[in-house]
Parts: sequence; structure tokens; C-alpha cells
Amino acid sequence: MTTELLAVRGLAKAFGLSNVLEDVSFSVMPGEIVGLLGPNGSGKSTALNVISGFLPRSAGTITFAGRDISDAPVHAITDLGLVRTFQLPSMPHRMTVREVLKAGKRDDGGRFAPVAYGPEIDVLLQEFRLAHVAGHAASALSGGQKKLLSVATALRANPKLLCLDEPTAGVHVSLRSDLVGVLRNYVAQGGACLVVEHDMLFIRDLCTRCIVLDRGNIIADCLPGELENNPRVVEAYLGK
Ligand code: ADP
Ligand code: MG
Repeated sequence: MTTELLAVRGLAKAFGLSNVLEDVSFSVMPGEIVGLLGPNGSGKSTALNVISGFLPRSAGTITFAGRDISDAPVHAITDLGLVRTFQLPSMPHRMTVREVLKAGKRDDGGRFAPVAYGPEIDVLLQEFRLAHVAGHAASALSGGQKKLLSVATALRANPKLLCLDEPTAGVHVSLRSDLVGVLRNYVAQGGACLVVEHDMLFIRDLCTRCIVLDRGNIIADCLPGELENNPRVVEAYLGK
């Protein structure tokens, strides 16, 4: 009997002869905010890409909300409630910030009966401090604002699991604590989060658990406060 929301077992991903993920196993339980850490190039974004269906796996299994999604297409995974953002979000040229948020709403598999929607657009615009640019072209936002808009858009889809790839990169320090508050609130209302991040203050504030990747393998699965005393983690970050 398993209650895992996401279960990744023996996941491997190779690009040609390069084994970027070797043997990755971890799970995310409902209500958790799991940090996915590791040095540059350790395979964090690749892991998110495979889990969310943007890249095919080489080996291993992925189950989400009780379903095997190992070979499922992106739209099916999204419909099940696993929604992700990108390390480098790109925004459409001809849509305003408000229109992008409107388009983020998930419908009920093409039928018209509404599913439970995420937060209202105006609430999100306030929470992410984007209200003053709501009518601007989304593509004209700063890098940090694009990040925030991509997180807000993902929340509009009311995900069961929100996967974020470096959500604070480029985001002004003063807005990072706002982001922590928004994400905590989302998880308190029944969500869960898997977040790739480098900002240790953000991680300590937000994450209930951390897993650390190094060269395609998990080297630690611990509380945020235990990271700095873990010799394998320290060694991975200092390099050999
Ligand atoms: P991280 O997000 O941890 O910084 P990535 O998952 O982006 O790392 O990349 C891990 C390794 O996989 C890097 O060496 C990168 O060059 C390689 N890689 C990532 N995507 C591809 C791809 N599409 N084709 C070939 N190699 C890739
Ligand atoms: Mg990355």
C-alpha cells in the first residue's frame, strides 16, 4: 500500500553515450515540498524533463497519483495534475500577462464541466506583484518577472504536484519571501512541490526535505538543516 504522490524508481536517462541520470529513485508524498539540489550539470533539469514527459526515459518507472506515467505524453501527465515550469521560461509575444494567466487554466479533458480551478487571476497578479504589468506583453517582462508569471500560470492549473526549475533565479531578493509564502499556502491547501533551487535561504525556508543529485545519482535525502553536515553533499559542491 503506497500513498506516494510521485514515485520515481531506477530512473535512467542517457543522451548518446552520456548517462546523465544513472539510477534515480525517490518519492514525493502529498503535502511535501521537496528540494531537488545538486551542482550544475548533475541532472536536475533532465530529471524534471523526464518526469514531466518532455523527454523519454532510458530506464526506470515513474508513477504519479497511482498511475504509471513512465511513457505518458505531456498533456496526459498535466491532466493528471503534474505541472512544471522551466528554468528559462519563454513567453508568447502577442499575449499580455493577464492573457497568459487566463490560458493557464486546465479544463476537464476537453469537456466543458469545470474542474476545481486554482486561484483567481487578480489574486495571483497581486501575490506575484505583477498587477502593474497585467496589460503588458508577457514577452517584455524581465527574466525574474517571467519566472514569477510561469509559477503563477502553473498554479492556475491547480496542480496536485508543482515542479519548479529554479523559480528564484533572476527574481529580486525581496520577492523571494513572497514566493515562499505563496507556495506554502498552495501546499497547505492540498498541493505538493518538487523544486530545483540553488538559493539555500529559500530552500531552508520552504523545503520539508531535500534530495541531492551528483552526476546522475542521488547522494543525499535529508532535512534541509542536515545538508551542510553531510560530507557527500559538501564534497559534491566543492568538486574533486
Ligand atoms: P542541471 O539542471 O542539474 O544543471 P541538466 O539536467 O541540465 O543539469 O544537464 C545534465 C547534463 O546533461 C549536462 O551535462 C548537460 O549538458 C546534459 N544534457 C542536458 N540536456 C541534454 C540534451 N538534450 N542533449 C544532450 N545532453 C544534454
Ligand atoms: Mg538545470
